[in-house]
Amino acid sequence: MILYKLGQWAFKKLIVKKILTGEGIISDVIPLFKKSLVLSSPSAWNLFQNLYDIKPNKILLNAPLQLPEIHSLAKTIDHDSIIGIGGGRVMDCSKALAAVSKKKCYLIPSILSTTAWLNPAASLKDGNRVTHAKGKVTSIFLDTELLAQSPQHLNLGGMADILCGYNALGDWIAAHLQEGERLPKNAKETVLSFCERIRKELPDNIPIIPSNVPFYINAFKEALGLCWGFLSGRPVEGSEHFIYYALEETYDQPMNHGAIIALNTLVCLYLRGEDSLINPNKLKKLYKTLKIPFSLKEQGIPEELYRNTLLNMYTFSSERGLPYSLWNQENLNENTLSEILRWIES
Ligand SMILES: [Zn+2]
Repeated sequence: MILYKLGQWAFKKLIVKKILTGEGIISDVIPLFKKSLVLSSPSAWNLFQNLYDIKPNKILLNAPLQLPEIHSLAKTIDHDSIIGIGGGRVMDCSKALAAVSKKKCYLIPSILSTTAWLNPAASLKDGNRVTHAKGKVTSIFLDTELLAQSPQHLNLGGMADILCGYNALGDWIAAHLQEGERLPKNAKETVLSFCERIRKELPDNIPIIPSNVPFYINAFKEALGLCWGFLSGRPVEGSEHFIYYALEETYDQPMNHGAIIALNTLVCLYLRGEDSLINPNKLKKLYKTLKIPFSLKEQGIPEELYRNTLLNMYTFSSERGLPYSLWNQENLNENTLSEILRWIES
């Protein structure tokens, strides 16, 4: 309990303190645009410009995700700071670029589709491998107007990135039972009741309008607070994320993180059968209500590629040295896989 409180305290002091939110919050950042390099994406920058008429000194609309590219970009920066406006990719690139170039970093998330804006580490790529690099964050500006304007299915996909806790917790419990991994006493009920509350309150918070945005912000803050409290990424990362990491190496198209995490979570929960901490049908129904495009068809991912990725998960997770998960236990066969995929599409 003392460790939990200490972790939560550190989270507030190191991260939550940097979050600035409220109406008109962007006016505080405007003077910084003159001296900053702005990183964004065409869609995020478009949304931002619809709300604010700002001319940045220099803007890059194709934030790199490759670590070597970020290192060479860092050498060319002669600005005082970096401003990142966008989703997960832009957040990760901005944080890493700021850390490498030792500049200040201001984040303006345009969508809450992943935990990237709240996570001090940057998830990047080195070749086709996913790597977690050091990041730096000075302040995080959360503009409710901007966030409410973003595509709903991306923001709601972010909720799947939190509700994956139902499955990730299953991995944690199994790791504790099989390998003696540390599982604090109250972790199971705390994570589970958090997921239950978010799942039940979600339908009352759609569509996403500015007054609903704080619900989404708080859900992310609480989820990351659990990780800091338990000194573990286990509450938000498990076998469902491991499939995503494997896909990142085999599928070269842009992926909607939240929607694929939704799909992977459903696959893993179905595979757990009676051990699942929630009836997978309940979660599937919610994702349909929220219109999260979780099916392979909606994602445009070839079924063959997804099947092969899943069949290879045991090898992938041992080769990459991933933490103990469902993939250390389940020997997935073709028939079970077909049954799961039929259920997903039904
Ligand atoms: Zn995620």
